[in-house]
Amino acid sequence: MALCHWMVFLATFLSINCVLEASEGDADPIYMTCVEHCEKTGCVKSECFQNCNFTSDGSYVQEPLYLWWKQWDCRSICRYHCMLDREEERKNLGEKPVKYHGKWPFQSVCAIQEPVSLALSMLNLGIQFHGWISFFILVYYKLPLKDNRKPYYEFTGLWHLYGILAMNAWFWSAVFHSRGVDLTEKLDYSSAAALHGFSLIVAILRVFNVKNEAARVMVAAPLIAFVTTHILYLNFYNLDYGLNLIVCATMGVAQLLLLAVWAGVTCHPSRRKLWVVVFGGALPMLLEIYDFPPYRGLVDAHALRHAATIPLTYLWWSFIKDDAEFRTSTQIKKAK
Ligand SMILES: [Zn+2]
Repeated sequence: MALCHWMVFLATFLSINCVLEASEGDADPIYMTCVEHCEKTGCVKSECFQNCNFTSDGSYVQEPLYLWWKQWDCRSICRYHCMLDREEERKNLGEKPVKYHGKWPFQSVCAIQEPVSLALSMLNLGIQFHGWISFFILVYYKLPLKDNRKPYYEFTGLWHLYGILAMNAWFWSAVFHSRGVDLTEKLDYSSAAALHGFSLIVAILRVFNVKNEAARVMVAAPLIAFVTTHILYLNFYNLDYGLNLIVCATMGVAQLLLLAVWAGVTCHPSRRKLWVVVFGGALPMLLEIYDFPPYRGLVDAHALRHAATIPLTYLWWSFIKDDAEFRTSTQIKKAK
């Protein structure tokens, strides 16, 4: 029965995809022709690019690896210049900016496509690392350990895995915002989906206080199967920004609703932090949904969303550490 529900859930998401299209900008025939022409000739109008070098037989000249980071590859530079060209035309016609490959037209700085989102992703990565390492020090060095040198806190392993997935997601987010090509886009979307999926699993396990290994596997298995299918679909079938947004937002909303109900009924000593995380967590979600184009070509809704997650992440890890202290003291009292 559970499998049946899951199949219906998956089918619904896949059918939603059928009605979703590419971003408006990259579906524009003028833009598509421009990119196609540029990839063949290395030129957009009168401007030609070194990155699109061709040998006599038409294949690309190998670029040295050390230039990989600083130099745009032919496709990304063609996309960028065709986008600027098309946006200029649209502006002259009095039309509003549109998205290209899931991103607004940005002003790149030193070959970095979205400098503000890159800086904020790195800050998020730093905050995640700080949260995770301070949690590690707390459970292994500050709180008492069992006789077998293991922590009393039953969710330690899950939060470690959460920390690793979160740092992985922010790392690929930073890479993607500095250079959006197919590979970095896939890694960013896949890592974000894995993090959202795991966050939901760990929230369910913590809220319902699931300690039994078999029960944990039963809760996690359908979600892991769903997220794995979604990641495989993105990587090998259709890299759909809209679909990924729906999947991640659905898992995010489910997690927030669960935490909100828990915050309302629990006697947890740190439930106030939980409330702030729940209400604050709605802000990044709203920013992602009520998307707006970048101000001065630099700061868009997505960048603000990355800014909003910084204090929330700090508070979330603070709650996790409080929870570790609370559960450890409860366990020790029980043992006495
Ligand atoms: Zn991002």
